Amino acid sequence: MTEKATVEKEELAQRLGEDADYDQLYTSGEIEEIFSNVVSYYIDPEKCQACMICAKKCPVDGIEGGKGKIHVIDQESCIRCGTCLQVCPQRFEAVVEVTGRDVPDPIPEEKRVVVRKKKAGKATE
Ligand code: SF4
Ligand code: SF4
Repeated sequence: MTEKATVEKEELAQRLGEDADYDQLYTSGEIEEIFSNVVSYYIDPEKCQACMICAKKCPVDGIEGGKGKIHVIDQESCIRCGTCLQVCPQRFEAVVEVTGRDVPDPIPEEKRVVVRKKKAGKATE
């Protein structure tokens, strides 16, 4: 953990006497910085191949999906642990980290059908 992160953690752990004292803890600029550095995770619908590994490994059951369905992270349930990013197979690399901007809206339910990528060199009919 960086020194800055340790200081921030210690500040957050403080117990202050009055509610108003909490208002002095961070400036609005610092609060904005903290929130803009929060990492979120998003599944790129163009890349997800519905292997279902991320949904099985998510500790809070926060990934919607199923066989043949593009998977979608429920941002409300997600605890930002990063497991889905780690377990998504390298050949798909469908999970991306998002910082400093809004997570894209989830793909509509009716468009969540996975189009299987053809193997290179395989003839198309
Ligand atoms: S970051 Fe963690 S909690 Fe969030 S969807 Fe991925 S595995 Fe689940
Ligand atoms: S692990 Fe990756 S490819 Fe597999 S379902 Fe999750 S996001 Fe899609």
